[in-house]
Amino acid sequence: METIYVKTIDPISQDLLRSAAQQGLKLNWERYESLQPQDGFLRVGLSCPYGCLQGPCRIDPFGRGPDRGLCGLERDGMVAAFLLRLSLHGALEAMNGLSGPDKGCEVSWPEPLNTMVDRALKNLGGNTLSLEEVYNSAFLLQRPMEPPERLILQALRLGVMTLGLLEQGHALGDALGNPQCKAGYGLLAGDDIVIGISGHPSRRFLKDVQEEASRKSSISVRLVSLGDLIPLNESLVPCACTSGEAELVVSSGRIALLLAGPGADPSLPELCRRLDVPLVKSQDVKKAEELLSLARESSSSRPRGTFNPDPALVQEARINRAAGGLEDLLKKNPAKKLALLGGADTPQQSFGWIPVEVASALLGEGVLVAGWGDAALWMLKGGLAAEEREYPARLLDDQQGPLIALKAMAVQGKLQNLQGICFTGLKACRDLAVALGLASLGCKVCIAVPLPLWGSENVRTLLADRIAAGGGILAHFDHPPNAQELLEWFLKR
Ligand code: SF4
Repeated sequence: METIYVKTIDPISQDLLRSAAQQGLKLNWERYESLQPQDGFLRVGLSCPYGCLQGPCRIDPFGRGPDRGLCGLERDGMVAAFLLRLSLHGALEAMNGLSGPDKGCEVSWPEPLNTMVDRALKNLGGNTLSLEEVYNSAFLLQRPMEPPERLILQALRLGVMTLGLLEQGHALGDALGNPQCKAGYGLLAGDDIVIGISGHPSRRFLKDVQEEASRKSSISVRLVSLGDLIPLNESLVPCACTSGEAELVVSSGRIALLLAGPGADPSLPELCRRLDVPLVKSQDVKKAEELLSLARESSSSRPRGTFNPDPALVQEARINRAAGGLEDLLKKNPAKKLALLGGADTPQQSFGWIPVEVASALLGEGVLVAGWGDAALWMLKGGLAAEEREYPARLLDDQQGPLIALKAMAVQGKLQNLQGICFTGLKACRDLAVALGLASLGCKVCIAVPLPLWGSENVRTLLADRIAAGGGILAHFDHPPNAQELLEWFLKR
């Protein structure tokens, strides 16, 4: 516990961590520590990713053991295929945001992004992008057939396509506008019954739950999100915490019931079982009354618990779900640079450290900042998005993230003002595909967690060269970089 500050920068989270330890609970940080060192072959991309049952073959990164797989595959081919495998998963995740006939469509971009995409595709083998790319990639990953250059090219094409799929998914979505988002532990203050939500239950069901919860009752019921931006009516469910802190909030004793929708944090069911907190899958419950009645029953059968944070610990700001708000900002500040920081919490870094430290320093340097994902919630919790600031950090929709800012800059003809895009943490493969796509479009991109590319210098060089030929940069590290390293990367001319 003496190293608690390397787990999270939030003092309330640190208190909750101590409390969890007293309860004998092992949360994400403890699991991370007990897993070290994680699979060294996978971490450097030298565990064969092909769909082949003659393996699994692994190549010794230090050159002392096997230097080829059973079929003769060498390290460059294995690492390049690993990158393609991850990109393919990323594209598939983005496809999941589409529905019906759109799954068969050619992928297209609105003006002015299509000009950037056309230029990028000239550097990536030409032709338009369609969902054929997915089938082609799966075919390339059956057995080793193509050289690393071809696999890297295909990974980058999938990255660009992933951006298009996210854009199409967004266009199909609702007209929620730019809703307000509240965040902070203060949302858990008081005696209301609290239902925590993880993942994305259907909006229809949530609306029913909200309506049912707002009916007159002796004790009111409050809904809080455990790290996801969840639309509810014209707004968002308030976020009690970032996604990395979800287990802490459940361990606090303030959650009477957990509602788990698609994409829910997989660590929560076991913790709920251990703490006897009812967990209901949104797909399994038909009526809002049933859910509310379970929450009331759970609340009345357990002691209130001692966690009662200051209700003032809530910050609020608008989430930009469309490019319009950022366009206004760029118009008013034509000479200012814009830095983008976003991504998920990762136990490789103290939660909140990179986003708060780097965003604060950039704002201090006169750079505009926008963020998405957990990084954006940390900026919000840290007061960096407060409207009374002269230049508050702007918060972006977590599905579209940096793409929103890129669209705004392209519309305003200000792409040259992009200071850089930093992924502070990666969770899903989609995040990696997005990073590859943005770098392929000519952006300066940095990833603050080590990628499984360190098993092949050739692959790293080929990837960097291909991206550079399109005017982009993809920086990454063989270690979790500290805030100063990332700040220097942003400010490097
Ligand atoms: S493709 Fe080659 S290296 Fe990979 S598992 Fe099969 S035999 Fe091994």
